[in-house]
Amino acid sequence: MTDQETFDICIAGGGTAGWMAAALLARFLPATHRVTLVESAEIGTVGVGEATIPQIHLLNNALGLDEAEFLRETRATFKLGIEFDGWKREGEAYMHAFGPVGRAHGLLPFHHYWLRANQAGWAKPLANYSLNEMAARALKMRRGPRIAHTPAMPYAYHFDAGLYAAFLRRYSEQRGVTRVEGTIARVEQNGESGTITALDLGDDRRIEADFFIDCTGFRGLLIEQALETGFDDWSRFLPCDRAMAVPCENGGDFTPYTRSIAHRAGWQWRIPLQHRIGNGLVYSSSHLDDNEAVRLLLGNLDGSPQADPKPIRFTTGKRCKHWHGNCLALGLAAGFMEPLESTSIHLVQSAVSRFLSVLPAKTPDPAIVDWFNDQAQFEWTRIRDFLVLHYSANEREGEPFWDAVRHMSLPDTLAAKLENWRATGFIHREHEELFTEVGWFQVFAGQGVEPRDYNRLADALSDDDLRKLLDGTEAALVEEARQMPSHRDFLTRFANLSPQQ
Ligand code: FAD
Repeated sequence: MTDQETFDICIAGGGTAGWMAAALLARFLPATHRVTLVESAEIGTVGVGEATIPQIHLLNNALGLDEAEFLRETRATFKLGIEFDGWKREGEAYMHAFGPVGRAHGLLPFHHYWLRANQAGWAKPLANYSLNEMAARALKMRRGPRIAHTPAMPYAYHFDAGLYAAFLRRYSEQRGVTRVEGTIARVEQNGESGTITALDLGDDRRIEADFFIDCTGFRGLLIEQALETGFDDWSRFLPCDRAMAVPCENGGDFTPYTRSIAHRAGWQWRIPLQHRIGNGLVYSSSHLDDNEAVRLLLGNLDGSPQADPKPIRFTTGKRCKHWHGNCLALGLAAGFMEPLESTSIHLVQSAVSRFLSVLPAKTPDPAIVDWFNDQAQFEWTRIRDFLVLHYSANEREGEPFWDAVRHMSLPDTLAAKLENWRATGFIHREHEELFTEVGWFQVFAGQGVEPRDYNRLADALSDDDLRKLLDGTEAALVEEARQMPSHRDFLTRFANLSPQQ
C-alpha cells in the first residue's frame, strides 16, 4: 500500500465490543485508515457485562483515559477479586483474588510452602496471605505507593457496560470515527472470493469497506450468517445455557469484589456499581426452568429490583475462525463463555491488540490469519479449562446439575494440568495463558483439589524458617490492610464523587 492509498474499516455493531474496537483503532491507526461503525437502535445491545480483570488497565492506558474521569463516567467501583460462595459445597467460600498470595522463596512459588504447612496441619487459610483478599473482605481499597516488603495490589473495575460503551463512543467520534445509525439488512460478498464487499442497510445506504469487524453480538451476522465459519460448541464442558439478569438497588456495603454464588443449577453474580448492583443467574435450562430462575434470582437480591429480569440464551463455545478473509469477529460474535471469571471484555481487547500487531495491507496474508486464529484458539481453550475446573471439582453431592458436572469428561488440556497439580503441586502454564499460577492455585485450593505432595525443595527451610515465612508475610499484610481507607471513602475521594453516590 502506498502512502496515499486509503483503507476503510467498517465495524458492524456498537456494543461494548464495537466501541472498544473503534476506540483502539481511532487511537492507533494512521490517517490513511478510515473507520465507520454501524449500529442499530432497533436491535440494541445485550446490556450486561459489568465485571473486568486487571488487564483492563492495558486498554484504558493505551487509550490514555483519565482514571478518575472513567470512574465517574461509568459509575465504576474497584474490584480486587471474585468470591466463590458454595462452589465447593454449600456454606464454604473462597476467593480468587488478583495479586500474589504469600511470598516466593528460593526457587519455589509460595504455594509449595503453604502446602507443606497445610500438610503439617497449621497453615492458615489463603486469605491470611493475600493482601487483595484481606482488603476485599475488610471493604478497603488503596492504590499507589505501598509499604516496603508488601506486595502490589492489582485491581480491576466493576462498571456500567452501557456507560462504558457511550464513553468510548465519545472518545472514538472525537478521533474521527464515523457512526452510522441503521440496521444491516444484507451482507454483500464477492461472488468468486466470498470476501465481504459492503453492508446494505436496506434503505439506499450501503457501506463499502476493505475490512469488516463483526461486533453484531450472538448473531454473528458477518462471521457466521454470511461467511459460515462454523461454531465449536463447548456445552459438554460448560452446560449452562441461560442467564437471567436484573439490576437492584445498592444495599450499601459496596464490596470491592464480585460475588459468584453457586445455586442448585448454576450460579448468581453480584456486581456492585456506584448506583446499583448488577445481578444475574447463569443456569442450565435442562435443570432449571425460566420461571424458577426468576424466582431464585429475585429471592436472592440485596435490594429492590430496578427492572424486570432479562432472559439471555447462549451456547458456550467459539467460532471456529475468528478471522476469515477480510472479516474479524469480536465480542459475542466471536463466541461466548459465561462470565465466571469476567473474561469477555478482556478477550475483545486482546483480539484487537493481536490484530493491530499484524495489521494487514488490503489483502490479509493467509499465514497471518492462521496464526491469529491459532492464538485465539489457545487463549480461549485455556480460559475454558479454568472455568471448567470451578465446576468439575465440586463436592455438592446429590444435586443433579452438580453431580453431572462433577462426572463429566474433562478437556485433555485440563486433565493434564490436574495430573501435574496432583503429583507435586506443579502448575503447568504455557507462556501466553491468561490465568496466573496463583490464580490456578487459589481455585485448586478453594475447590478442595489437594495434591498428593508438594515440591520437596520446600523442605530446605527449617520448621522455624517456614513459620517465619508464613507468619511474617501475614503480619506485614495485616498491617498494610489496617492502614487502608474504606473502599467507599477511597472511591469518593479519588474520583471526586459526591458522598451519597
Ligand atoms: P452486543 O452488546 O450484543 O452488541 C451487538 C451490537 O450489534 C449492537 O450495537 C447491535 O445493535 C448491533 N447489531 C446487531 N445486529 C445488527 C444489524 N443487523 N445491524 C446493525 N447493527 C446490529 N463480559 C465481561 O467482561 N464481564 C462480565 O461480567 C460479563 N458478564 C456477562 C453476562 C452475560 C449474561 C452475558 C451474555 C455477557 C457478559 N459479558 C461479560 C460479555 C459482555 O457483555 C460482552 O462481551 C460485551 O458486552 C460485548 O458484547 P458485544 O458488543 O459483542 O454484543
